[in-house]
Amino acid sequence: MSEERFEALLEETRLFQPPEEFKAQANVASTDVYREAEEDRLGFWAKQAERITWFEPWKEVLDWQPPFAKWFVDGKLNASYNCLDRHLSGWRRNKAALVFEGEPGDSRVLTYQDLHREVSQFANVLKSLGVRKGDRVTIYLPMIPEAAIAMLACARVGAPHSVVFGGFSAESLRDRINDSQAKVLVTSDGSYRRGNIVPLKANADVALQGSDSIEHVVVVKRTGTDVNMQEDRDIWYHEAMQKASAKCEAESMDAEDALYILYTSGTTGKPKGVVHTTGGYMVGVSATHSMIFDIKDEDVFWCTADVGWVTGHSYIVYGPLANGSTVIMYEGAPDYPAKDRFWQIIEKYRVTILYTAPTSIRTFMKWGPSYPQRRDLSSLRLLGTVGEPINPEAWMWYYKYIGGEKCPIVDTWWQTETGMIMMTPLPGITALKPGSCTVPFPGIVVQVVDKGGNPVPKGSGGYLTVREPWPAMLRTIYGDPDRYASTYYGTWPGVYFTGDGAKWDEDGYFWVLGRVDDVINVSGHRIGTMEVESALVDHPSVAEAACIGKTHEVKGQAVSAFVTLKESVEVTDGLVDELKAHVATKIGALARPDDIFFTAELPKTRSGKIMRRLLRDIAEGRALGDTTTLADASVVNSLKEQYKDEA
Ligand code: ATP
Ligand code: MG
Repeated sequence: MSEERFEALLEETRLFQPPEEFKAQANVASTDVYREAEEDRLGFWAKQAERITWFEPWKEVLDWQPPFAKWFVDGKLNASYNCLDRHLSGWRRNKAALVFEGEPGDSRVLTYQDLHREVSQFANVLKSLGVRKGDRVTIYLPMIPEAAIAMLACARVGAPHSVVFGGFSAESLRDRINDSQAKVLVTSDGSYRRGNIVPLKANADVALQGSDSIEHVVVVKRTGTDVNMQEDRDIWYHEAMQKASAKCEAESMDAEDALYILYTSGTTGKPKGVVHTTGGYMVGVSATHSMIFDIKDEDVFWCTADVGWVTGHSYIVYGPLANGSTVIMYEGAPDYPAKDRFWQIIEKYRVTILYTAPTSIRTFMKWGPSYPQRRDLSSLRLLGTVGEPINPEAWMWYYKYIGGEKCPIVDTWWQTETGMIMMTPLPGITALKPGSCTVPFPGIVVQVVDKGGNPVPKGSGGYLTVREPWPAMLRTIYGDPDRYASTYYGTWPGVYFTGDGAKWDEDGYFWVLGRVDDVINVSGHRIGTMEVESALVDHPSVAEAACIGKTHEVKGQAVSAFVTLKESVEVTDGLVDELKAHVATKIGALARPDDIFFTAELPKTRSGKIMRRLLRDIAEGRALGDTTTLADASVVNSLKEQYKDEA
C-alpha cells in the first residue's frame, strides 16, 4: 500500500429503477430506513434485534472497545431455537424448511417440524459423544440436509462448529481440525460430484492421521461407498440417530458465545479462522435476509453456495431458517447431468429468489443462453450475486436471460469476516447500476479512504473501510486476537480495513475494484483488476478474464491478461490485437494489456474466486504461494508451461 489511491476508470451509465410492481409489494418500500439508521444507528440495530427470540433480554446494544466489540450485551438466546422451535407453534411447523435435491436426482423435503426433530436427535448424539458447550465440532459433508442438521445441532448444544467445504483435501481438513482442536468430526462415506464419488470418509481418515484432538467420527451414509470404520472412534449417523431421543432443550447461550469458526476462502493467502458469535450474528443475518431478499412466506429461496462458505452459513442456514423460509439445497454440479441443471431445479420447485456467484454466471454465459431458454424460469422475481465484483456484461446477461428483464438484481458485497451482507441494493427502492454493489445496508458505515485514512471525494477510488462496528462482525481470529487486531484494525486505529479497493461515484454508489494487493500500477496510474477484466468480458468472444500487473522496466507494471473464450469461439490471428484494442477503447490506452494469454480455465479457489496472486507468481517466474485452496492444480501447471513458451 505505497500509493495514494486507485485511478477509477470504470464508467457505467446504465441505470435500472425498481419495477413498479416489485416496489408495490416490497418489504422495504421507503428510503426512510436509511435516514432512521443514520440518525440513530444503535436504535436501528436494537429494532432489528426484535426479529430474534431472546431467552433473556440484552442490556446494552453495543460495548465497543476497539477493536473488540460486544453486541446485545448479556442477552441470552439460542440460534437453533430461533431457526426451529419458534416456528413450531403456528402453521409454519408444516412448512417446508429444507428442500433437498440430490445430484443423482433424489429429493427430500424436511418441514420445520421434521428438521426440529432431526436436529434435536443429533444434538443428543453429540452429547452422548461427550460434546459440551464450548467444544468444537468439525463438519466435513456434502450439500445434504445432514450438513444443516449437524450445524443446527451444534448450535443447540452450544458447541461451535467449523464447517470444512467437502471439496477440500485431507491436508486442508487436517489443518482446520488442528487449528480449532475439534473433538468430533461429522462426515459421510462419500459425496456425488459430476456422477463421480468423492471419498470423504477416506479423506477424513488420512486427515486424522496427523491430528489427535478428534475423539469420535460420525459418518453419514450417502453414497454407499465402502468405508473403514475404526472401532471405538467411528459411528454411523443413522444408527446413532435411531437410538437418540428427539427431546433436547436448546442451551441458553450468551449473545457473545461463539456460534462458529469458519476459515476464509484463501484467495489472498493462508485462510484465517474467523469467529462469529450468536446474538449479533443472528440479528444481522435475519435482518439482511429479510430486507435484501424481500422475503415473503410464499418464497422459495435458493442460494447456490456451499454450506462450507460463509454465504451458505448466513443465507442457506441461519438467515433463512430464522426467518421461517423455504430453502433449496442442491448437492451437485451445475452441469450434471446437463448444463441446464440449475434451470431445471428452478422450474421444478418454482424458485422465486436465486442467489449465486459471478463465477457461475460467467460459466453460464460461456455455455450460452440455450440452456436457460429451454426451461420455465417465470417463477423468479429477484436475483442476487456475491463473491466477486460482477462484470457489467455478466450482470446484463443474468438480468436478461435468467431474470427475463423483470427481476431486480441485488449485488451483495460482504466477506466471511463481516458475517452478513454489508453493501447491497434494497430491491424495492434502489436504482441499480450493473457492476456496482450500490450502497451500504442501513446501519452500516462504509468509507473509501486514501493511504492516510482520509475519505476520498466522490468520483475517486481508494481503500474500502468500515467505520463503525456492525452486529455480525467477526469477533476475533480463532486463538489469535493479535492477528485479528493487526489484520483488520492495524492500518488505521478503530477502522476496519476490508483488503478491497473501491471507488465511490458521483451518486455515492460503491464499485469494488478488486483486492488492494491485486491493483495494477501502470506508469503511476492505479487500475483495478475488475476494470480491465470487465472491458475484456464486454467483448463478444470472451467468457472470463483475469488481469495482473507484471513488472515492466519503463511503466513499473504492465497489464497481463489471461482470457477464456466462449465455447463456440476459435482463436484467430487478429484476436489478440482486437482484444487489446477493445480494452484501449473501453477504458483508455494505459489499461491496454501488453500480453494476452488464452486458457481453457483460470486458477480459482474452491469457492470459485479467481486467484490472481498465482497468476502473478507465474508471470514473474516466482515459486507459487499457498495453493491449498486451489480448486484444480493442473490449471496452474498448464499455465506455467504455456507462459514459459510464449513469454
Ligand atoms: P482470503 O481472505 O482468505 O483471501 P477471500 O477474501 O476470498 O479469502 P471471502 O471472505 O470468501 O474470502 O471473500 C470476501 C471477498 O470477496 C471480499 O473481500 C471481496 O473481495 C469479494 N467480494 C464478495 N462479494 C463481492 C461483491 N458483491 N462485489 C465485489 N467483491 C465481492
Ligand atoms: Mg478476504
